[in-house]
Amino acid sequence: MQNKIAVIAQHAGGRTDPVTYEAISCAVKLCAGETSCIKIIVVGDRVEKIAGEMAEKTGVDILAIENSQLGLYNAEAYREVLSDLFKEIVPEYIVIPHTSTGYDFAPSLAIKLGATCITAVEGVNCDNEKRSFLRTVSNGKLFAEVVSKTKTTIITTQPGAWPTEGKRTERKGSVEIIKTEVAPGKTKTLAFKQSDDLGMEMANSEVIVSAGRGIGKKENLSLIEDVAKLFPRSAIGCSRAVCDAGWLEYRHQVGITGTTVSPRLYFAIGISGAIQHTSGIKGAQMVVAVNNDPVARIFNIADYCVVEDLTQFLPVLMEEYKNNYK
Ligand SMILES: Cc1cc2nc3c(=O)[nH]c(=O)nc-3n(C[C@H](O)[C@H](O)[C@H](O)COP(=O)(O)OP(=O)(O)OC[C@H]3O[C@@H](n4cnc5c(N)ncnc54)[C@H](O)[C@@H]3O)c2cc1C
Repeated sequence: MQNKIAVIAQHAGGRTDPVTYEAISCAVKLCAGETSCIKIIVVGDRVEKIAGEMAEKTGVDILAIENSQLGLYNAEAYREVLSDLFKEIVPEYIVIPHTSTGYDFAPSLAIKLGATCITAVEGVNCDNEKRSFLRTVSNGKLFAEVVSKTKTTIITTQPGAWPTEGKRTERKGSVEIIKTEVAPGKTKTLAFKQSDDLGMEMANSEVIVSAGRGIGKKENLSLIEDVAKLFPRSAIGCSRAVCDAGWLEYRHQVGITGTTVSPRLYFAIGISGAIQHTSGIKGAQMVVAVNNDPVARIFNIADYCVVEDLTQFLPVLMEEYKNNYK
């Protein structure tokens, strides 16, 4: 493999996670727009279809590593098959989405390869031959610029920080499939159980409906849930104030100390727009804010600004949507 950069695809249930395309954006930046030096690695079981779709969509060549034991994500198995691969073909950079699976296996893969691991990367400086990476520190107040001193560098890409672009080339990427052996490990993933809780889905959702302290009381979360139910791939998010009040669990928190999200549509309902919150929604394609304060900070970044009491506006919104779009 002549490729300097390997991107580890994230996928589940036969669908590519959009964070994979963000990781590819980072890889493209690393090689100054030249996609031929990138290879996407797809680890799994029977991934030919999904690999073909990725090759079609990105124009980047795919190497799929298949084994029936790789059907469900397992950190140990990922680490073993990837470290075997990267001992033979040594990329300069390995790019992995910074998700609960990505940051699960990336550090142990780095140890196994003797590589540097730079996590939650939000930017790359390509000013000179040696790349440097930007990641936030001190709760988002500062950026640290980090360089790697090892031959191979693993970076995990912060979701939402890497805008995805359309296909950069007319060519369709090639797909090579390798059947691999997986040595018995100390752990085995038995199953994944889908949670009924919409909050689990934030990273994969097209629409996120987020509640702020402005909802007034926990009971008003039902309004937020009702809005989310209007959209098929939706999830519930919230500000830290809502978590601190005990109305939702911290895994729903959006922002610098919560989750960074990049949905197509983000509703900020009764959220003031503190920087710690809005820095987590930079990747949202459209923001609709509902707030009864006309000078609320959230309106500085919102595409649609609704100056209304949320308890009055949301029932009207839902009624209109059901009548006109369902
Ligand atoms: C180190 C640090 C890290 C942090 N990390 C995060 C983070 O990751 N995520 C995060 O969200 N916060 C974070 N915070 C907290 C952040 O600074 C804000 O305090 C928090 O985001 C405020 O939440 P809020 O907008 O829901 O509440 P508020 O700031 O209280 O805003 C409530 C809003 O609701 C509006 N409102 C009230 N009633 C109504 C109504 N009836 N109809 C419509 N609108 C109404 C008000 O006008 C107001 O704008 C962090 C803070 C620190 C110091």
